[in-house]
Amino acid sequence: MSDRTLLLAGNWKMNHDHLEAISSVQKLAWALEDAKLDDSACEVVVIPPFTDIRSVQTLVQGDKLWLKYGAQDVSQHAPGAHTGEIAASFLSRLGCSYVVIGHSERRADNHETNETVAAKLRAAVEAELTPIVCVGESLQQRQDRTHIDFTLGQLDESLAGFTADELDGLVIAYEPVWAIGTGETATAADAAEMATAIRARIGEKFGTGLAESTRILYGGSVKTANVAEIVASADVDGALVGGASLSGPDFAALCKAAVAK
Ligand code: PEP
Repeated sequence: MSDRTLLLAGNWKMNHDHLEAISSVQKLAWALEDAKLDDSACEVVVIPPFTDIRSVQTLVQGDKLWLKYGAQDVSQHAPGAHTGEIAASFLSRLGCSYVVIGHSERRADNHETNETVAAKLRAAVEAELTPIVCVGESLQQRQDRTHIDFTLGQLDESLAGFTADELDGLVIAYEPVWAIGTGETATAADAAEMATAIRARIGEKFGTGLAESTRILYGGSVKTANVAEIVASADVDGALVGGASLSGPDFAALCKAAVAK
């Protein structure tokens, strides 16, 4: 058994305004308490839209909640003349622990490349945010059986130019694009196969220390009903959850199921 802490991160995408965020986080905190979950069992993270983060921070700090929060994206630039961008240092000052980088929806909607991901990763590392770097293949690539090569290629290019020390704390989310928001879930064996390949590649490039400490999540239609099986694999250290994280009580139930694996 590894000593990597189980991580359950809820990516709200563009859902919940700041008032709904407060209600959702309160309900999540109550449901986690009812489920008798605390940070000795797992790390629970909410990843709301930017406009909610200050409200979430106030609630988490005011009520001394143990859950953590993060952002769905970050600018690759330092503060300055970049209209509409959000600097990594701003997120740190808001108490964000995590930042998602290279989600497939951003790669598709905003033409983010692996090079962009590497630049954003650099900004996150410099601001001491823990990056959750997303990789994963399309349905066509899986059908062509090129999914492992493709995903490892994304990983290589996203982590290019970093040292193992700089990547300490790294989280990788394996999210096959065909499984995101579709109700289609990769089998536990598919998730495990890719997580093992990712860990091996990190070992080859950065050494066994980083390979052993990096947490690898699976994402793609994870629900309470399937999370236990997915995180039971030795190389899968948690889940990045979209739709099933929007309701506080439902996300707490999912976390409980993951812990009970
Ligand atoms: C995601 O947004 O990263 C995700 C995995 O979404 P869903 O769980 O809804 O498939």
